Amino acid sequence: MGTSFPSIFNNVVGPIMRGPSSSHTAAAVRIGLLARRLLDEQPRQVVATFDPDGSLASTYRGQGSAMGLAAGLLQMDISDSRMVDAERICREQDIEVLYRIAKLAISHPNTYHLAVKGAGGAEISLVALSTGGGIIRLVELNGEAVVDDSIYVHPLLPIQPQGGDSLPFATPEELENLLAGQGGSLSRWASAYEAALGKIDVQRVVELGAEHFTVMKDSVASGLAGTNYNDRILPRQSDRIASAQQQGLLIPSKLVNSIIASVTAVMETKSAMGTIAAAPTAGSCGTLAGTLTAVAERVDGGAESMAQPVLAAGLIGVFIARAGGFAAEEGGCQYECGSASGMTAAALVELMGGDGQTAMNAASMAMQNTMGLICDPVADRVEVPCLGKNIMAALNAVAAANMALAGYAHVIPLGQVIQAMREVGEGMDKRFCCTCKGGLSTTPEARRIHASMNAATPSGLDTTRGG
Ligand code: SF4
Repeated sequence: MGTSFPSIFNNVVGPIMRGPSSSHTAAAVRIGLLARRLLDEQPRQVVATFDPDGSLASTYRGQGSAMGLAAGLLQMDISDSRMVDAERICREQDIEVLYRIAKLAISHPNTYHLAVKGAGGAEISLVALSTGGGIIRLVELNGEAVVDDSIYVHPLLPIQPQGGDSLPFATPEELENLLAGQGGSLSRWASAYEAALGKIDVQRVVELGAEHFTVMKDSVASGLAGTNYNDRILPRQSDRIASAQQQGLLIPSKLVNSIIASVTAVMETKSAMGTIAAAPTAGSCGTLAGTLTAVAERVDGGAESMAQPVLAAGLIGVFIARAGGFAAEEGGCQYECGSASGMTAAALVELMGGDGQTAMNAASMAMQNTMGLICDPVADRVEVPCLGKNIMAALNAVAAANMALAGYAHVIPLGQVIQAMREVGEGMDKRFCCTCKGGLSTTPEARRIHASMNAATPSGLDTTRGG
């Protein structure tokens, strides 16, 4: 389900967060925080129920939903450095969090049913959805359907969308008409869109773009400096490219190898619970951040500031969010890394001083190449094959950007590519949609790794207090 008027900083670039997955960790924090606010007192017991056929039943521990929910119940922010200890802190504060796997009436794969009892006797129940990229929807409160969740959910987000009726455009086709008549860069139109949506100054939009790029650049630096985290499949690897390059072991291409190292560094920061900007999701956070950082270090393009490519990427994501969003649980990794690749291709065109239509063409070509990409993480962790897919998405973006800048024909307009991706996602076998029930997830080696990491309890009542 798409969002009528997505915001660049609510729905696409960001949230700035910690944790392996925006749709599992950041969304879980927000749902926990929402429950805590609605309860309006210290929780005493929370029973979280997940549907056995959804994504959360098998991934809620490995992808950080349990940790995030505990953090939200403790009123932590999505970037709180204490998040990794949230379940332990819940136990210390006598907050009991139980997990049940049972059939739910709502069919969305990321559905949270929470029954919450407070220390002072208050009780609430709610049903909330994680729709990708850290965005949540409250659909039921105390048994009653919630028609307009904005008064509950919008205070948790950076932009308060209130100018939907004054947007300069809403669809890729409308933007292409404007570009044909007035020209301009994608970032210019992105700024106009976000400013109108949030009823804020264009200057504030540019500042937010710059702030997000700073987080991206820092996530590359912290990954390259070295990360450490126990619950992780992959070792530190981002330092290997530079040393292998120095030894003459690699196919010579300084830019390509720098992108590989930078994307890896962001993914390692994410996997070590460091701060990243999800763009459009935490699982795909390496693509835009790693590529932009690496290219900007080596190429003096035409962009005036790094806010511009971030905004260009964000606007491509707005169109994808409007069509249905980024949840791999709904349509596989094409929604995450495929979208990230299209966004990054547009950002690179912007970085090189290309115009808005060229940037949209680049996004179209990049996304044509990633259509059908499945989601099949190993051992519920967002590491394998996620790292390789982020790197593939990054290099695909570079190729698409150069193809567009050189004037290659993209043939299919971006809006139609997005719709086609949606159609492919809706027809995708749900074993390949982040359920860990197919693809690489169920190979013998993945099963062995999963068992050795002692991951999620697959069914029944998890009686471990707070995990
Ligand atoms: S395979 Fe892609 S969509 Fe699935 S968890 Fe990894 S990065 Fe996310």
